[in-house]
Amino acid sequence: MFVHAETSTGALQPAGAICRAAHECGALVIGDCVTSLGGMPVDIDENGIDIAYSGTQKCLSAPPGLAPLTLSGAALDKLRARTSPCVSWYLDLKLIDEYWGTSHRYHHTAPITMFFALREALRLCQQETLEARFERHRLNHRAFVAGIEALGLSMHVPVANRLWTLNTPTLPEGCDDGELRKRLLDEFGIEVLGGFGPLAGKILRVGLMGASSQRQYVLLLLGALETCLQANGGTRAAEAVYQSSGGRGDRED
Ligand SMILES: *Cc1c(COP(=O)(O)O)cnc(C)c1O
Repeated sequence: MFVHAETSTGALQPAGAICRAAHECGALVIGDCVTSLGGMPVDIDENGIDIAYSGTQKCLSAPPGLAPLTLSGAALDKLRARTSPCVSWYLDLKLIDEYWGTSHRYHHTAPITMFFALREALRLCQQETLEARFERHRLNHRAFVAGIEALGLSMHVPVANRLWTLNTPTLPEGCDDGELRKRLLDEFGIEVLGGFGPLAGKILRVGLMGASSQRQYVLLLLGALETCLQANGGTRAAEAVYQSSGGRGDRED
């Protein structure tokens, strides 16, 4: 089990290498793709992820409530050959397999309204194209990072492992993260999260996911940080990235 887009730190985990190592030991791999699906390439089959699950509420920008799930042939074989009872009804994939499959054996009542919401979200992904969607997430991430660095801050994650969807700038020495985040919310209507555990008070966690990965939000946040941190040049540096890339960073609709 691994988390593809690790949202407590902002790091992208190497799915291919993890799956290869696990398969060499005869293990199957479950990948949490909650904060990558729809925002960054997941490449489930190419990476060899046996069971991948995600959520609808992050980069797909649908309401919360469904967990898109896919299983490899090997994972399905293992599941169907299981003889010991599953301790959970709700998460018993064998029962869900029978519900989803041709026998349609009752397991739960499917939330039909959510399927319509997901269908609409996927239609928007298809209209934008996945390629353009990934590029939009990448561009807004790059512009945000340029702005953060121009403000004199650094990113918590090395450049090669950064998520485009969840950005973790390191807070300046002596900056009270609770106060900063309260001000961002109260004065600018922007909600960003703080760090967990050992990273509490040290980083911000800034989601640029799906519908929220847009140039206007990147510039709004950088402008707000300029005010709160009494620093300059963040929005200018981000604008330069948009200009040099020729990309808009907004959804083309
Ligand atoms: C948001 C998130 C979750 C939680 O999703 P919920 O639907 O809120 O339970 C799980 N894993 C990762 C990596 C996430 O970013």
